[in-house]
Amino acid sequence: MIDYRPARLNMVERQIARRGVSDLAVLEAMSEVPREEFVPENLRDYAYEDTALPIDGYQTISQPYIVALMASAGELSPGQKVLEIGTGSGYAAAVMARIVSRVVTIERLASLADTARMRLTRLGYGNVEVVTGDGVAGCEAEAPFDAILSAAGSRRIPPAWKSQLAIGGRLVMPLGPLGDQILVKVTRLKDDDYVEKALAAVRFVPLIGGG
Ligand code: SAM
Repeated sequence: MIDYRPARLNMVERQIARRGVSDLAVLEAMSEVPREEFVPENLRDYAYEDTALPIDGYQTISQPYIVALMASAGELSPGQKVLEIGTGSGYAAAVMARIVSRVVTIERLASLADTARMRLTRLGYGNVEVVTGDGVAGCEAEAPFDAILSAAGSRRIPPAWKSQLAIGGRLVMPLGPLGDQILVKVTRLKDDDYVEKALAAVRFVPLIGGG
């Protein structure tokens, strides 16, 4: 059996910390989550490469650096509740679950949601709930969220996401047309007062139904 830990620590140091992500909770979480368990079996040896990788359903598991950048922009800390849109493999949900108390993650493709749910259970992430469905509507039943992270991009911010943010909460998502997306962080300052900040140019799969 291959020990992937050295490759994982190397990834955290070279691809993430050296590029400026300094959030210790995120660096620690990513040093622990076995990314090799979240990629297709034949791609395990590439699990710690500096790249997104294909998963089922023509989707992707995001590049490790982007997962770190988003989690750190989400300002995650113990006791918080997070909503993720686009479960995919479940990797980003596992990273966040090591930091916060509860992660609700929504995936529209039932096959991906089922696989991620079983994987997260097998790996002991009991504080993640995988919901099969359309994430554009968010999850009103569990709102408000301290952070909402979307791993799929759209031209507009779905209104439900803004309204389901706690006051002080952070929404991190790729915004803009395919091929010209910017990762943005939207912070809810007051009831109807939001501030938006651009973080980086990114390339994500589309948020289906996001507009
Ligand atoms: N966070 C994932 C991981 O760690 O593997 C990567 C997710 S992948 C980049 C984006 C995911 O968003 C895809 O699995 C896709 O099916 C999902 N998606 C796209 N539109 C969606 C929607 N409207 N609701 C829920 N999931 C959606």
